Amino acid sequence: MKERIGVVPLGEVPALAVDVIAANITAYYRLPADILLKRPIPESAFDEARLKYNAGLLINMLGTLDFSGYSRIVAVISRDIFIPIFNYVYGQAVQGGSHALVSLYRLNRNADGSTPSASLVFERAAKLALHELGHLFNLYHCNEPKCIMHFSGIIEDLNKIPFYLCGDCARRLPR
Ligand SMILES: [Zn+2]
Ligand SMILES: [Zn+2]
Repeated sequence: MKERIGVVPLGEVPALAVDVIAANITAYYRLPADILLKRPIPESAFDEARLKYNAGLLINMLGTLDFSGYSRIVAVISRDIFIPIFNYVYGQAVQGGSHALVSLYRLNRNADGSTPSASLVFERAAKLALHELGHLFNLYHCNEPKCIMHFSGIIEDLNKIPFYLCGDCARRLPR
C-alpha cells in the first residue's frame, strides 16, 4: 500500500495541534497526512490505580477500528498515558507497525513548572509525532542526540532533539 498517514484525535484535542502534527508529517517525511474524524476514548483503557490511560490498550483499540486507505495511524490524545514499565510516556508506537499514539498532556508545562508558549507546545507535539512515526517505520532509538529518534524521557530532552533524522536513521527509512 502506498503510504498515507491518518492523524486521529482521540477525544477532545485542540484542532491546531492536530493540524500542526499533520503538516509536519508531510513536511519532514514527505508523505500525505490527513486529519481523520475524532474517535472516543475507550474508558476501559483508564487505569484506576495510576489515574492514567494505558497506552498499549489504546493502541490495541486503534487496531480494531477501520482506517481503510491509510497505511499508518497517529492518534493524538490530551490525557496522560503510561506503559507498565514507565510512570508516564509522551508517546507510544508499535515498532514497525501501523498505530502510534501521542499525548499532549505533559507538553503544556516546562521542567521548572512554568507555562511554555503555544508555539513551543506545538513544536513538542510535532516532534513526538515524527518520533513515533519513526518507530512505525521500524526505526529504533538512536544514540545521536541530534536526531528525532533520540529517546526523550523528560521534557528538556524533547526540547533538545531536532526536527530531523540523523544520517544513519535517514538511510534506514524505507523508501
Ligand atoms: Zn521512542
Ligand atoms: Zn538517528
